[in-house]
Amino acid sequence: MKQILIIGGGPAGCMAAIACKKHNPTNTVILIEGNLRLGEKLRLTGGGRCNLTANVSAEEIIKHTPRNGRFLFSSLNNMDPHAIMRFFTERKLKLKEEDHQRIFPTSDKAEDVVNVLENELKQLGVQVQLSTLVSAIDAKKKQVKTNKGSFSFDHLIFATGGATYPQTGSNGQSFELLKQCGHTITPLQPSEVPLVSNASIIQAKELQGLSFKDVSMSAYVNDKKIIQVTHDLLFTHFGLSGPAALQTSSYLNDAFKDGNKVYVSIDFLPQVKREKLEAQLKSKLIEDVLQAYGIPKRLLQVLKTRASLDIISIKQFKLELHGTRGFTTAFVTNGGVSLKEIDPKTMRSKLVPWLSVCGEALDINSLTGGYNMTVAFSSGYTAGLMFEN
Ligand SMILES: Cc1cc2nc3c(=O)[nH]c(=O)nc-3n(C[C@H](O)[C@H](O)[C@H](O)COP(=O)(O)OP(=O)(O)OC[C@H]3O[C@@H](n4cnc5c(N)ncnc54)[C@H](O)[C@@H]3O)c2cc1C
Repeated sequence: MKQILIIGGGPAGCMAAIACKKHNPTNTVILIEGNLRLGEKLRLTGGGRCNLTANVSAEEIIKHTPRNGRFLFSSLNNMDPHAIMRFFTERKLKLKEEDHQRIFPTSDKAEDVVNVLENELKQLGVQVQLSTLVSAIDAKKKQVKTNKGSFSFDHLIFATGGATYPQTGSNGQSFELLKQCGHTITPLQPSEVPLVSNASIIQAKELQGLSFKDVSMSAYVNDKKIIQVTHDLLFTHFGLSGPAALQTSSYLNDAFKDGNKVYVSIDFLPQVKREKLEAQLKSKLIEDVLQAYGIPKRLLQVLKTRASLDIISIKQFKLELHGTRGFTTAFVTNGGVSLKEIDPKTMRSKLVPWLSVCGEALDINSLTGGYNMTVAFSSGYTAGLMFEN
């Protein structure tokens, strides 16, 4: 009988503990979480309703993982989005699909997702240690030190998350513990994060609060197109937020350096062809045409006073960007444990035989929309599953 410790009670750690105990019932499995309750960050996803996965193939998950997606082949083979959905529905949680294939509990309550995980942990006999913060690892004694004393281990799984939204407990401090174990941490950057613009139209707050459904937004660095995203967009007092901005930010991690010129071009009406608009403008006023398509009056007024209100300003609205809102508001961390040091089939460290790493602590980042949650669940499951007795 062996003692397996898992640090971190987010989706990766919970699933690692479940897989580990299920496949090795004679082992003692202890899940250690610094917070008072499990899944603090998970509870914030999908606007507090828990966007637990996306109803897409494993291939699509890899495509929506701008950093190191291909590392996930094996773990998605063990647990893909359909297996995640099955895991929850088999445990009586009803799920529903919303736009962009996003999956939520039908109840719209993130707590219901956590309850399923908690019940499963309890039924399997995983010991859950809440309010227990790991502060050091003694590699020689194979012990972790916490505010509630020391815990011995035969194997240790790090599921400690990234460095964003630090109030959720995943504040990046555990990367120091991983470094002390000998692992390389690639540079950490905020990702899936609102974008800042110093442009006068933003600074004047004239567009603040305007939101748009499914705009098409292309991002350029030094006039080279980097990515095009179609999703919802929100203008804020500092720049851009909403899924289109967050997803775009994942491709701009290195862009705001070295005086690069970064801008986006927004098509507010991607579903309407330019030629159609041109034909309609021959007989009607542009305001009437655009309002009929649902373009808000406020945007039209601002465009009219700021520049010229024409098809270009609606289909190629250009906005310069100057940075991101940083770690405190980023949904995901870009960077983490170097994947060169982790076996993708098992999530075991190639450097330290008694160590595995899963979830956002790895140098992987996906897009919001259930993709990061999928990475956490499937890499966590793999870390637990692949533990050898
Ligand atoms: C506001 C917000 C919205 C999001 N929306 C989405 C979305 O819609 N779709 C999506 O796919 N993703 C979304 N994400 C990202 C997603 O929540 C994370 O990628 C996912 O939770 C990562 O899971 P994890 O288990 O690896 O890490 P985490 O969920 O961060 O869990 C790590 C846990 O480890 C604990 N821990 C860390 N260090 C220690 C220690 N030393 N001792 C004890 N415990 C420790 C932490 O307290 C934490 O509970 C969102 C994130 C945020 C912040």
